[in-house]
Amino acid sequence: MLTDELLRKRGLRDKTRLVFFTPYPRPYPAEPMNQIVEPVLRERGIEVLTFFDVDRIDPAASTIYSIEGDEIHYDLPIVIPPFTGADIAYTPANAVDESRFVVTDKLTLRVRGTDTVFAIGDGTNLPTSKSGVGAHLEAKTVARALAGHPAAFNGRTHCPFDFGHGQGTFVTGSYEAPVVRSPPGPPQAPHEDDIRAHLLAQPARHAGAGIRRLLPPHRSQTGTPPRDQIPGKIRLNSPAINEQQAAGPL
Ligand SMILES: Cc1cc2nc3c(=O)[nH]c(=O)nc-3n(C[C@H](O)[C@H](O)[C@H](O)COP(=O)(O)OP(=O)(O)OC[C@H]3O[C@@H](n4cnc5c(N)ncnc54)[C@H](O)[C@@H]3O)c2cc1C
Repeated sequence: MLTDELLRKRGLRDKTRLVFFTPYPRPYPAEPMNQIVEPVLRERGIEVLTFFDVDRIDPAASTIYSIEGDEIHYDLPIVIPPFTGADIAYTPANAVDESRFVVTDKLTLRVRGTDTVFAIGDGTNLPTSKSGVGAHLEAKTVARALAGHPAAFNGRTHCPFDFGHGQGTFVTGSYEAPVVRSPPGPPQAPHEDDIRAHLLAQPARHAGAGIRRLLPPHRSQTGTPPRDQIPGKIRLNSPAINEQQAAGPL
């Protein structure tokens, strides 16, 4: 979406074909979020190719081949390589899993088989997003444990999503939070103050600082929880692209 914005600003969009390919069955893996993302991709003329697992890239032919048998010719490929842990020798060796991520208790953040060793951040196998926000909150949990307080990580994460053209949305979640669109149904009127306050309250506020206008959100069915409370659901602040806004900077 940011590439689309850049190309439009430079007057090159109509000369460019943008293809978003993914191994998942839809552009965004979680369906409620996909209901927001996929229409925006289509509105902006970004082609979507699902079930595309990269098998190999042939630079001489400028072609990416998938294990499913599809292929894409490219001028500029943007491909995320498989994500694995660092090649570091650990003792004991079974402290890491087959992808070399440190096996970490998802609540206490202690490394498997230890009482006094903690792990946080991208190097762990925690079943939550690998993000700076996650590492920050995991660090707070460890700090509390080291200070002798009860401490358990709830898997909480925050994700500002920059749609380009000054638009964006925001997701929060935790281990227990099912992905829901909140509330269900058509988009409601914007409650930008809620969302702005939420963004400003989060460690990710700098990541969201480029978002000048928030897409009309859905208000959480449960209201905005206190900062230190485990969210009961992923709160999805959603869609309804404002046509004029989308078209404005194009
Ligand atoms: C392009 C991009 C955009 C991102 N945007 C966001 C965002 O908007 N919001 C968000 O929350 N997160 C974002 N992230 C994710 C975030 O950057 C990471 O999740 C976060 O930095 C993880 O922190 P960490 O301390 O676990 O690891 P890192 O920040 O990767 O720190 C690991 C450090 O260890 C060092 N190191 C590695 N191997 C060795 C070694 N053998 N010996 C000594 N040092 C070593 C590395 O040099 C590095 O400094 C983004 C990541 C990328 C790549």
